[in-house]
Parts: sequence; C-alpha cells; structure tokens
Amino acid sequence: MISLVVVGASGRMGRAVLEAALEDGSIEVAAAVSRSDPGLGVKWESSLEAAIRPGRVVIEFSTPEVAGEVARRCGAQAVPLVSGTTALTSEYEALISATARSSAVLRSANFSLGLLALRRALETALRALPEWDVEIVERHHRGKADSPSGTALRLAADVAALRGWDERAFRHGREGRVGTRHDAEIGLHAVRGGSWVGDHSVLIAGAGEALELRHTVQDRSAFAHGALRAAKFVAHAPAGLYTLEAIPVAAGGA
Ligand code: NAD
Repeated sequence: MISLVVVGASGRMGRAVLEAALEDGSIEVAAAVSRSDPGLGVKWESSLEAAIRPGRVVIEFSTPEVAGEVARRCGAQAVPLVSGTTALTSEYEALISATARSSAVLRSANFSLGLLALRRALETALRALPEWDVEIVERHHRGKADSPSGTALRLAADVAALRGWDERAFRHGREGRVGTRHDAEIGLHAVRGGSWVGDHSVLIAGAGEALELRHTVQDRSAFAHGALRAAKFVAHAPAGLYTLEAIPVAAGGA
C-alpha cells in the first residue's frame, strides 16, 4: 500500500490526482496539502512540514515556489517525489538534481501516455522528413499562467535534438515584417481560452503537403493516472532522476 501526499491538492490537477487515488485500492491518501481544504474527505494539511515524512510518496502539481520547497524537503528525508509543475527555473532544476541524489524523483511536463506515443511518432516522422518545417501549436485554458506550455517546449527540444539544433532555433510567435522563415527554426504558438485542458499539434510542412500530429487531453484524469503510475514506480525505485519513459508498461497498474 502506498501512503500518498498530494501537494497542490485544491488545484485543478491536485483534485484530479486525489479523485484517481481515492479509486485506487493500492493507494492510501495520507495528506492533501493546499491553501484551502480540497474536500473529498481527505486529511487536509496547510503545511508541507507536517505532511512530508519518511515512508510516504509525494505527488506535486502546484507552483514553482512550492515545487522547490517540496523538492528540498523530499531530498532531506529521502522521500520519493513525482513532480509535475511546469515553468520551473534553472535553480529548481539544480535543486531537483540534488534531491535525486537521495530520493527517487520522476519529473514530467506531461503525464499523459498519449503524449508519450506522440513523441515516438514524431521521431519516426522527422527521420523520414528531414527537410520539412516544424511548427508547434498548443491550446490551453484561459487560467494557464505559463506560455508556451512545458509540453510544447519539450516537443520543441525533441525536434531540436533530432535535427542537431538547440534552443536558439525556437521562434516564439511572429509579428510584423519578421522576414522569411529560416530552415533551422521551430515555431511555437500558444493559444489561450475557454477550458482546453491540453492540446498539442506538431505541424510538419513540406512542399505541397503537410503532416499534423495532434494530441488532445479531454480531462485531467489522463495526467492523474500517469502521475499515479509514476508514484508507484518511484515508491520502489532507487534514488535517481527519472522520466515517464522509465516506467515499464507492466509496472503501471494504474
Ligand atoms: P491550480 O492553480 O489549479 O492549482 C495550484 C495549487 O497550488 C492549488 O492547490 C494551490 O492551493 C496550491 N498552492 C499555491 N500556492 C501555494 C502555497 N504557497 N502553499 C501550498 N499550496 C499552494 O493549477 P493546476 O492547473 O492544478 O496546475 C498546477 C501546475 O501543474 C502548473 O504548473 C501546471 O502547468 C502543471 N500541470 C502539469 C501537468 C503535467 O502533466 N505535468 C498537467 C497539468 C498541469
């Protein structure tokens, strides 16, 4: 039985994780940490100190500031951590690496399995179409604070790595007379509005034809189930930094 702590519990993602965890017979929700009581009959804590203890596993979807504090506390007590907050600073990335020296840490900007499949399909497509232009269009709800999404940046990094480029190839939107497109360019476009949960399209455009790979999340349970799979994985993994790809399919169960 996994003793789970959900940080950011009253938020959109935190509630989805709680709902999925409450339906999972192999997980006990030990504490839900957030500014306000998330309800759902779980034990609410307003402080990380009381909630993060040895023997527990933490899933965190909150803010960059809270994410840093959670990582520090998990590292100090060798508590396994699943971290999903996006738009983290490089200081946080360094902190996560330090945490991973004593704890099993799994970080992902997108916990959906469909997105993982899109990334694999993208690699195949780009190998077949080495000259074609790539643009990424993402759509998210009006409440999303960071743009472009962490997933769009992940996809752009995948494209850059496959093409032998780096972040200098990223082109965030276009306005005015910006000149013609460069070959070594990856356009990123963020659409905000309504209640889109997470929608990413990779457009691969050649002369006279184009291909579009698109992944749509209809509700947050897609991320929540991926995060629970990750929690089950880190609960028994040695200290280290992992990504979603590290989880063997048979080890999921969620
Ligand atoms: P949200 O605004 O709905 O929720 C944020 C949560 O953080 C709330 O529960 C709030 O109480 C808590 N919080 C804020 N400040 C706090 C503090 N000082 N102490 C304790 N708790 C505090 O946001 P959301 O839509 O749930 O998204 C949260 C994060 O997860 C964002 O960074 C988002 O981009 C990311 N996200 C990641 C994935 C993924 O698959 N990795 C999927 C969806 C969202």
